[in-house]
Amino acid sequence: MTPNREDYLKLIFELGGDVKKINNKQIVAGLNVSAASVSEMISKLVKEDLVEHSPYQGVQLTERGLRKASTLIRKHRLWEVFLVEHLNYSWNEVHDDAEVLEHVTSKTLENRLANYLNSPQFCPHGGVIPEDNQPVHEKSRQTLIDYPINTKIRIARVLDEKDLLDYLMSIDLKIHEEYIITEIAAYEGPVTIKNNEKELAISYKAASTIFVDQSLESED
Ligand SMILES: [Zn+2]
Repeated sequence: MTPNREDYLKLIFELGGDVKKINNKQIVAGLNVSAASVSEMISKLVKEDLVEHSPYQGVQLTERGLRKASTLIRKHRLWEVFLVEHLNYSWNEVHDDAEVLEHVTSKTLENRLANYLNSPQFCPHGGVIPEDNQPVHEKSRQTLIDYPINTKIRIARVLDEKDLLDYLMSIDLKIHEEYIITEIAAYEGPVTIKNNEKELAISYKAASTIFVDQSLESED
């Protein structure tokens, strides 16, 4: 499936593009598209006043872009919760169907769905579900590559991207789990994390799209 402009807006948001500049390389990795397609779409988004682009730095959502992204994210994430909680989808299966559903969801359906689900705050990937007509503010913003060795971390959120989620299922990494970073290989090599049950070497690319909170209890 070729990503459309909504997918770009959502990804830019998920990478933190409401508060900072996101570079093309991150978008290429997040959407699995070519650098040329990214540049082409960015110019369209700039023309529509949805993002601001600074040469060599990247793009950031405008207020209009953030509003548009928030509505899409709310619908998308509400459907994800519904599919996982009521139709037994797993977290790597929900994306495509939530993607289709978000585009055909009216305001009435969106709000009835939210009521039916008791206004959930997070999607199955740990993303914040914004309130009706409110801009979304993501809580966890640091990724696994932002911390040094020996940091105790908790998996807070992952990018809602099929290949990443399949990979995380295959290595058995789940949201809310706690680990210690035990090794960071040089030259963008894997990041190794460990807890009492398992030890996982996570590719640098995946690690840069896994958002973590620092666990506050210290480890003796
Ligand atoms: Zn999600």
